[in-house]
Amino acid sequence: MEQTYSRRTTIENGLRVALEQNHFFLVFQPQIHVQTNEIAGVEVLLRYCHPVLGMISPAEFIPLCENNGMIDEVTHWVIKKALNQQNKWIEEGLPRMKMAINISPSTIVNSGFADVLNKFFKESNVFGEFIEFEITEDVFFEYSSQTLQTLNELKNMGIKLALDDFGSGYSSLRQMKELPLHKIKIDKVFIDHVELDRDRAFLDSILDLTKKLESSVVCEGVESKVQVDYLISKGDLIAQGYYYSKPLTSSEFKIWYGRHLQNRVFS
Ligand code: C2E
Ligand code: CA
Ligand code: CA
Repeated sequence: MEQTYSRRTTIENGLRVALEQNHFFLVFQPQIHVQTNEIAGVEVLLRYCHPVLGMISPAEFIPLCENNGMIDEVTHWVIKKALNQQNKWIEEGLPRMKMAINISPSTIVNSGFADVLNKFFKESNVFGEFIEFEITEDVFFEYSSQTLQTLNELKNMGIKLALDDFGSGYSSLRQMKELPLHKIKIDKVFIDHVELDRDRAFLDSILDLTKKLESSVVCEGVESKVQVDYLISKGDLIAQGYYYSKPLTSSEFKIWYGRHLQNRVFS
């Protein structure tokens, strides 16, 4: 217990200097239309390289940022960096890439968030239509009329909203119906065993629901050809996972993109 406590304290202390000392960086994971192999966009994922402990998973440090009050500042850093990256890629000859950015529930429902975004958009000259926010079902815990108002404000700015990890958390279908969701990301657990009848039954019914909601769909954690073939048979879905690519640094992504243009084949 002592060890866990000291690791946590070490990370928490490190997080306070991480922004100033460039210990954070972004990686990008492609999202692909399964039927055409065209790129639908990239998901932006945060990385933290601690000077002593090395790489730390966002699954470990993001909850610490949410607890110690740093999450808004960290999220603003991610958004700013992502918008700058868009501009760098354009300068380097890549097309404008849709970017999906993970936003914690407490940040997205913050009433000042839209103003911060407007400022970033003006500064970078990148606007809402190239941005998608991924929110998890935890947003329902913060749910109020203010939540709906803020989400609608973002929608009016052209920002798309995707529900992340769908099916793995607490979902209220009633609230889900009210949210201005553009996309649903189906959690990896529903994709892992598409070869099993029971698992396929779950996946198929989620796909039926998303079709009725007229949301587009991203299947997460796609790792094998068997999974891809199954998804191809289900329509125009988007997939993301190691089968296509691991999350890549900005320069790795540029190389990956160049190769992808030449031969759109994955194996
Ligand atoms: P997530 O949003 O569900 O992100 C997908 C996670 O699955 C990523 O882990 C990604 O690297 C991993 N992944 C992608 N494809 C595959 C695959 O085929 N197989 C397997 N086994 N894993 C795959 P990562 O980058 O460690 O992120 C973990 C979580 O941390 C994310 O889950 C997200 O909830 C959170 N996170 C990451 N970056 C940010 C951020 O900037 N802000 C916030 N609020 N949360 C973030
Ligand atoms: Ca995500
Ligand atoms: Ca996810």
